[in-house]
Amino acid sequence: MLCISCGLEAGYNRVVVELTSGVELGGFCRSCEIAEFGRSLERGHWSLNEGCALCGRDGHFALPRWEATATYRGDDVVGSVEYHITDRTLTLCDEHLHRIRSGTEDARRRAAAEDPV
Ligand SMILES: [Zn+2]
Ligand SMILES: [Zn+2]
Repeated sequence: MLCISCGLEAGYNRVVVELTSGVELGGFCRSCEIAEFGRSLERGHWSLNEGCALCGRDGHFALPRWEATATYRGDDVVGSVEYHITDRTLTLCDEHLHRIRSGTEDARRRAAAEDPV
């Protein structure tokens, strides 16, 4: 799964899910999370009821964390990762999700302009 912001492999940090459809738009990697939010996503108390974490409008996109789980099947332990969207999951409105995505596009465009091939 690729990061919606930098376009690189997102790893198992967060996933971006459109709430109405349940469609996974992509991942949100650790370095982009730190760049955008620092550690506030880990520390804050976020709630679906409060809408977008950044502006308070309706949150249309959830950014739950991947969580590692171990399932026991007979004698085998099967490790997997999954996410849960609850009322404490961070959500963003369409505008703020768009800013996270386009912020990096701008940076890429600037880099391309400064470095003509
Ligand atoms: Zn990223
Ligand atoms: Zn917002």
